[in-house]
Amino acid sequence: MFKKISYTFGIIFFVIFAFFIIKNANLSSFIDSVENRTFDLRQSIMINEGAKKASEDIVIIAIDDASYEYILDNFGEWPLPRNIYADMINYLEKESPRAIAFDLMFVKSIKSKNLADETLIKAFKKYDNIYTSMNFDNQSVDLRTPPKLPNKLKLNIENNSRIDFSQLSFSNCRTILQGILDSTSNIGIINVSRSDDGILRKMPLVVKYQNDFYPQLALKVGLNYIGELNNTYEIDKNSNFIIDERKIYLDKDGSAILNWYGPAGTYTYIPMYKLIKAVNGHKLDFDFSNKIIYFGTTASSLFDIKTVPTGKIYPGVEVQATYINNIIDNNFIRKVNKGYTIALSILLSLLIASVVSRVDSAFSASMMSFSTYFIYLLIAYYAMRFENLWLEIIYPLIFSIFGFTCAYIIKYLIKSRDFEQQYKLATTDGLTELFNHRYFQEQIRRQLEHCKRYNISFSLIIIDIDFFKKFNDNFGHQSGDAVLRQVAQTLKRNVRATDIVCRYGGEEMSIILPNTGEEEAFSTAQKICERVAQHNFKLANGKETNVTISLGVSTFPKDGETAESLISTADKRLYDAKNNGRNQVGKII
Ligand code: GH3
Ligand code: MG
Ligand code: MG
Repeated sequence: MFKKISYTFGIIFFVIFAFFIIKNANLSSFIDSVENRTFDLRQSIMINEGAKKASEDIVIIAIDDASYEYILDNFGEWPLPRNIYADMINYLEKESPRAIAFDLMFVKSIKSKNLADETLIKAFKKYDNIYTSMNFDNQSVDLRTPPKLPNKLKLNIENNSRIDFSQLSFSNCRTILQGILDSTSNIGIINVSRSDDGILRKMPLVVKYQNDFYPQLALKVGLNYIGELNNTYEIDKNSNFIIDERKIYLDKDGSAILNWYGPAGTYTYIPMYKLIKAVNGHKLDFDFSNKIIYFGTTASSLFDIKTVPTGKIYPGVEVQATYINNIIDNNFIRKVNKGYTIALSILLSLLIASVVSRVDSAFSASMMSFSTYFIYLLIAYYAMRFENLWLEIIYPLIFSIFGFTCAYIIKYLIKSRDFEQQYKLATTDGLTELFNHRYFQEQIRRQLEHCKRYNISFSLIIIDIDFFKKFNDNFGHQSGDAVLRQVAQTLKRNVRATDIVCRYGGEEMSIILPNTGEEEAFSTAQKICERVAQHNFKLANGKETNVTISLGVSTFPKDGETAESLISTADKRLYDAKNNGRNQVGKII
């Protein structure tokens, strides 16, 4: 019964707790942010263990600090004249690269010369593997009229998911050179998505501009690389972006979670000034054939530095490289849906709770619970390492701790109740519910020690029912038992709460009266004697009768300083009372 109630309460408590955690927005966003950090940690461990190898087909032409300085010395203030890009493109194309992509936006600029722009536009016309980018924003129409973009840039998306694209929807855009817009469809978007903590873990595949979908630059380059660039794509009802055989999982706000390959510098960097020098006849010892060449800034003064799971300082262009690498390797992370996570957490906590309630030793139960969670951690780690699966670990941890604690509390409530019952069984007499003989012996010794230590007195009363043998003979043993119980009740009712009433044995009872002197004990004994004599005892057959008792009193330290001497004095006086006619307290001489 008690067990059932405890378990029911435990389960109710558990459900309330789970509900509270899941429904509390602040709490779950806090848990998510901690979970994100565990993702970062897992990614770092995977990289340390050499679990992932970055593609060697991706090369970064880095506009680094040295290149920035070189440009300043040779061409003046940034931006670089556009014809220089055209020169580099022409130089690289000679080596037949797979693609040349610019993580740079060739926006209209008063600084740039028309002729230089024209040269670049010509390069875009000439080669079909040159890519560049645009960025969407939500600037007011007061500042600029949102441009209409060519239809060829759009991507048809059949969206069957419940992804909320509102965070990736934009109303305005700073357009790039019209000549480029006219001459190529190799234009992708480079908006990023960030977590609340500012760490970049995911990237959109597509973004919305005025209700149409546009592909991200890296998606476009990547799809081209794997030969899957189509006009229409589907996002299925499970939030997967379908590319033929591949599925890229998009999280609830429409971004794909990247799998990282290392800290900054994982990809081959070639400083742009070396390429410019190579264009002008210097030797550049690098084979660009079949490579994806990505132009981007790494110079701190050009402000494109991000924080990612594997490093605090990570250039935006390398995020793009990682993104393409994920497409090439079909390596995006798939996060397990919240419902499954909660179900898994509950399962794990139930497992731990059952371990705790079944295993007797607290140490073993703790170790087994810890091991259970630890095994789960390992599974979560290897699931990410080998299956690109992000199994959450914080919800399971919280639920496990809660399950563990609940099970412990319930287990000890039950145990302590069992203990209480056993203690009661060991110290009380079943018939009279008075303390038993053993308890009496224990308590009288404790009183002796206490009173010796503090130099105070205590008394003892021994009680014996008169002619009880005869009573049994006349009324039967059941009536005898009933009388014993009622005498016990009468004793209890007529002493202090601190007095200890015991069944000494048979029809004899004893009372220890702490901090009580001889006179007081004697008058208490007398009171009890009278009360018993006055009491109408109910018999088993419903009739009533009277019973008397005889009593003997002794007091520490006057009558003895050991339990034996005190008991024998009280016994002797009880014997005197009997001899003197019963129904009285033995005289103290
Ligand atoms: P006295 O006045 O001298 O004490 O006479 P007595 O008959 O009470 O004394 P005696 O010690 O000869 O008998 C005690 C009796 O108490 C014997 C036994 O039948 C009875 N008795 C002891 N324990 C129990 C019990 O648990 N239940 C019942 N019904 N009787 C008990
Ligand atoms: Mg007796
Ligand atoms: Mg008796």
